[in-house]
Amino acid sequence: MLDEEKEDFDVSVIGGGAAGLNTAIMCASRHLKVLLLEREKIGGLLATLYPNKIIPNYPGFPDGIVAIELVRKWLKHLRSTDVTVKQEAVLNVAKDLTVRTEKKKYRSRVMVIATGTRPRRLGIPNEIKFSKEDKGVYYFASHPEQFLGKKVLVVGGGDTAIDVALELLNLADEITLVHRRERFRAFDENVKKVRKSGIVNFVLNGELKAIKGRQRVEKAVIEKEGRKLEKIIDAIIISIGLVPNTEEFLNLGLRTDQRGFILTDRAQRTNIERIFAVGDVTNVGLRLITVAASHGAIASHYIYLYVKKPYWAREAWPTEV
Ligand code: NAP
Repeated sequence: MLDEEKEDFDVSVIGGGAAGLNTAIMCASRHLKVLLLEREKIGGLLATLYPNKIIPNYPGFPDGIVAIELVRKWLKHLRSTDVTVKQEAVLNVAKDLTVRTEKKKYRSRVMVIATGTRPRRLGIPNEIKFSKEDKGVYYFASHPEQFLGKKVLVVGGGDTAIDVALELLNLADEITLVHRRERFRAFDENVKKVRKSGIVNFVLNGELKAIKGRQRVEKAVIEKEGRKLEKIIDAIIISIGLVPNTEEFLNLGLRTDQRGFILTDRAQRTNIERIFAVGDVTNVGLRLITVAASHGAIASHYIYLYVKKPYWAREAWPTEV
């Protein structure tokens, strides 16, 4: 039952991934009263999609750090603060920024959207059906060991797809990488590593058109240069990019780019007063954990100025160049 009583905060942060967690921690360190709402797992994609991935480029960990370990460190940090954490899904946000979850209503001076992204679906026959309950369609190699000895098809040409291929090099029996063009978006260095391995079969200018199987994935239908071929396969990992999680905020009139990522200024402000956005849900040019975390630092600084209004606040707002 919905508790109609509203709770008041200085800041409500929606989304508990790298950007949201760090925004909440940094706001709390500025003595703001913070609410953090997360509908799924704290840690975002690091906890849900790639908990076992070694993050090679987070500063301070020269040997890399396993994603879920990094989340644990952030959680420890979060617990040392006064942030109120609620595991509740946001249903909608009113124009006055009242946030309604399935349990309660919350009010805050400032709202921070940190809802991140989710994997894009390819939209082909049997994709959704076989993506549930381990039936052979995945959006990342969350548990790489499950692909041991398997014939795996990876779709995509970005960093995620190439990272997946690299991760499976010593595990899968056979890896086929299907990409819709000749060249890759992913870091050259990693593409070279995959090519050099000699064990990845590249299908370039190719597209996965359908998935066949009775109870689970059995065959992939690939189209290349107008010809269709069927390939026997155990698993398909579709890594074709990310779409922003913004559905709950569409009524607010937020300005986005043509792909739906939220536009912000250098203070992480959106076009709507009192609403900030951080991390992968924004139209940031570079989607890296360290960038998401730094958005938290930037946003918290300007939220502090907005809420506490110190005498020097005016001088500190970013000026356009
Ligand atoms: P991405 O960079 O957007 O790449 C998506 C890939 O999928 C592109 O090659 C795209 O092809 C292809 N694609 C998109 N829609 C398709 C469709 N309908 N059918 C077939 N192919 C399709 O996505 P991502 O690889 O998930 O990476 C997301 C972001 O996270 C990027 O900014 C990336 O750099 C970052 N990231 C970084 C790391 C790292 O630092 N190691 C790791 C993972 C991700 P086109 O090239 O033809 O558009």
